[in-house]
Amino acid sequence: MGVGDELRSRRVQRQMAHAARRRRSSLPGLLVVALVCAVALVAVAHARGLDLRRPGDLAALFRPQVVVQVDGKAYAVPRPAPAHGRLLPAVPVTTTGSYAFLHTVDAGPVGYDPCRPVRYVVRPQGAPPGGEELVTRAVAEISAATGLEFVDAGTTDEAPTVDRPLLQSRYGQDWAPVLIAWSTPRELPQLAGDVAGIGGSAAVPGADGRGTWLAAGRLALDAGDLGRMIHAGRADAAEAVVLHELSHVVGLDHVDDPDELMYPTTSRRVDLGPGDRAGLALVGQVACQP
Ligand SMILES: [Zn+2]
Repeated sequence: MGVGDELRSRRVQRQMAHAARRRRSSLPGLLVVALVCAVALVAVAHARGLDLRRPGDLAALFRPQVVVQVDGKAYAVPRPAPAHGRLLPAVPVTTTGSYAFLHTVDAGPVGYDPCRPVRYVVRPQGAPPGGEELVTRAVAEISAATGLEFVDAGTTDEAPTVDRPLLQSRYGQDWAPVLIAWSTPRELPQLAGDVAGIGGSAAVPGADGRGTWLAAGRLALDAGDLGRMIHAGRADAAEAVVLHELSHVVGLDHVDDPDELMYPTTSRRVDLGPGDRAGLALVGQVACQP
């Protein structure tokens, strides 16, 4: 026990003695104080995603919350909702080809927690005709290729930015959901020229400070570029752009192989290649956050 703890225990003893004296003289006052403390405790627990009925959570309430610095901003790491194993079966690797990961820890990929849904929101404003269906199909395909469950969390008016805040009050206490936004080079200069989309996620620590998972992904699609592809009868090429960017979101990096969709520029391939599929299966096999 450190000096601080000893001082604190003496203070607690004094407070207990004081409380015992007070209990005799003003019982209702003590009850009110106790009730307010309980309410405050539950509010803190709720804010940190804790369930006080779980013994581990009760203990977690008294541990300092992990704070992570991303893009120069400090974030208190939210605690994930309870989980009971993977939501979808892991996808086995059955193909060989080039793949690379955007984030690695001990040579293994960093991915989204396969025991929790990957929530996503869409900003539909400015979408080209047929764009919405394209996104729905691409999300379903990436879900099937990774074994990650994607959950449509509705629409948003959040504008895409490169340094997106990872926690936002509009989305509650958890990491922000993946943002899929139709945009323009005027709004997002990174889409200038022949860039049809950009995508990625943040790599963040687990709630107890151990492990690394992806969170708060963002995907911006150039509505003009993709609209022109769809209009020219190349919806398959437009969907390939969404698949490529979503693959970045779930953790794949570029490869120098034009036979893969993760080649940096559009090529003859408009579907997932053998290396893409192997990489996507692997990012979907990462361990769950406890
Ligand atoms: Zn890319």
